[in-house]
Amino acid sequence: MPMQHLRFLLALSAFVVIGAAHRSLSAEETAPVEVIYHHAHVLTMNRDNAVCEAVAVAGGRIVKVGTNVEVTRLASANTRMVDLGGKTVLPGFIDGHAHPSRAVRMTEKYVDGRFGTTPSVTAVLAKISARTAQTPPGQWIIVAGSSSSQTRFAERRLPTRGEIDAAAPANPVMFLNGAHEAVVNTAGLQSLSITKGMHELKGARIGLDAQGEPTGVIQEGMVIFPDLRIPDQDLRRYYAKVIPEQWNAHGYTSVYAITPLQEMGVLRELATQDAPTLRYTIAVFTDPGGKFLPPSFEGLSLPSGSDANWYRVAGVKVWADSDVPMRGGAVSEPYAGPNGGHGLLNLSQDELDVLASRVQGAGLQFLVHATGDRATAMALTAFERSRATAGGKPLQRIEHFGEFMLGSDDLLRAQRLGIGVNVQPAWIATLANSTIENLGAERARGAFRFRSMIDAGLEPGFGTDVTGIVLETLDPFLHLWAAVARTSDVGTFVPAQAVSVTEALRMMTIWAARAQGEEDSKGSIEVGKLADMVVISEDVTAIAPAALRALKVLKTIVGGRVVYEAGGQAAPAS
Ligand SMILES: [Zn+2]
Repeated sequence: MPMQHLRFLLALSAFVVIGAAHRSLSAEETAPVEVIYHHAHVLTMNRDNAVCEAVAVAGGRIVKVGTNVEVTRLASANTRMVDLGGKTVLPGFIDGHAHPSRAVRMTEKYVDGRFGTTPSVTAVLAKISARTAQTPPGQWIIVAGSSSSQTRFAERRLPTRGEIDAAAPANPVMFLNGAHEAVVNTAGLQSLSITKGMHELKGARIGLDAQGEPTGVIQEGMVIFPDLRIPDQDLRRYYAKVIPEQWNAHGYTSVYAITPLQEMGVLRELATQDAPTLRYTIAVFTDPGGKFLPPSFEGLSLPSGSDANWYRVAGVKVWADSDVPMRGGAVSEPYAGPNGGHGLLNLSQDELDVLASRVQGAGLQFLVHATGDRATAMALTAFERSRATAGGKPLQRIEHFGEFMLGSDDLLRAQRLGIGVNVQPAWIATLANSTIENLGAERARGAFRFRSMIDAGLEPGFGTDVTGIVLETLDPFLHLWAAVARTSDVGTFVPAQAVSVTEALRMMTIWAARAQGEEDSKGSIEVGKLADMVVISEDVTAIAPAALRALKVLKTIVGGRVVYEAGGQAAPAS
């Protein structure tokens, strides 16, 4: 048997070489193979972007990657063989930044005031009026609107406090202009105890007219949001069932959930129960500036007995600024147009520095939302100053890094510091027009520079940032298509900043994993990693950029198990 022996040794050495980057072989990798996915076009997203044909799984992890012959050789009588008929397989998509409980809440409970279905202020008011018929007087009506609705509605403005009063005289109403701004009617102001002359409430900024009367416009009002506390029985259902189903159906196997502190009780409870079909990495937040975070982060840890591969508390998030689409991102040069302004900072440099050290010192990742160049520079400075407390671990990250604008040395500083960055490529498709209106055509050309980021040595991780406001951004192929084809709401947007299909896929898999400190277990199809994969409808490497938009998920596999399967057999033509 010398030949067989030699083959075994060769196989073993390949095994060890591939696995060595992560860890040495464990018992589960030498356990009997449970399932083999074969006759596939597997884009592994490993360091060399290797392509192979088959994957073997044992104990929820990948134990072999290779040709059909190499992998099927490991089959025993109990191994389930799944022939994928030549379909393309990718590592499971990682949604590196989302607000899933809020997104589900919004779609289940709130009036749909999104631009796609609601083209004008008149249409929004009619929907509010219709909802009053089903809502007892005094009960809140919340309307989910698209961010930057003032640039989208036919009237080119938001509904006013007075107009909403007329549509809903007996109910408090809040119209959400995206996640960072809202318009509230008179009953709503009363319900929130906002009175004349009050310009701030728990950090929320209240718009006042010349007489000191509240205009109804509230910025950064999440702290006083009337439906902030989602009831526990709803949260249990969302996290255990609704979110996994929705995310799995789009090919996601992991989500970095940006989670309000008050949801931790339910997550702690779920973490000791049956594993869901989606892996949760969790970052908590309170108010935008982080002033109400608990004095100690020890209370955030999950109970012993919970499995970090399913639930892991990994970070704390603050918003350094508001958001560029609402002209709230902190910018160094004023916004375009007569009312310009420099946007809104939620905390000072000193406060950000202190918080960075505190969070990183606790071993948690500090996620800083920064959309304007002034906020981005502040975040980079805080990361420079707090670097020692990160101890060389990937604990420093900027959310929406440079998406709307980059300062002249931002790329260099970010690369030198080795900080993680998270971006939303689909915003090219949904926010190019508003970016031009808000920043002016010339400055807007500096938005969405993913090519420059990669060329500078950054590895941007992707996240949907789904909040329930723009539902189509849950579709990973919208992000892939936007990153590669640069198709936007104003035509092709700065095509020189396009990235390749492989680069975009790396953003959605291995770079997203790396940006949340999980590359040892996720993000590529390699021996030793969790067996999280997605089977898609077409060979993504062989179709035209325009066709990327129409790709579909056929199967989502988590821990080796198929958790989502598209109805019907045929892949839709693209
Ligand atoms: Zn977000």
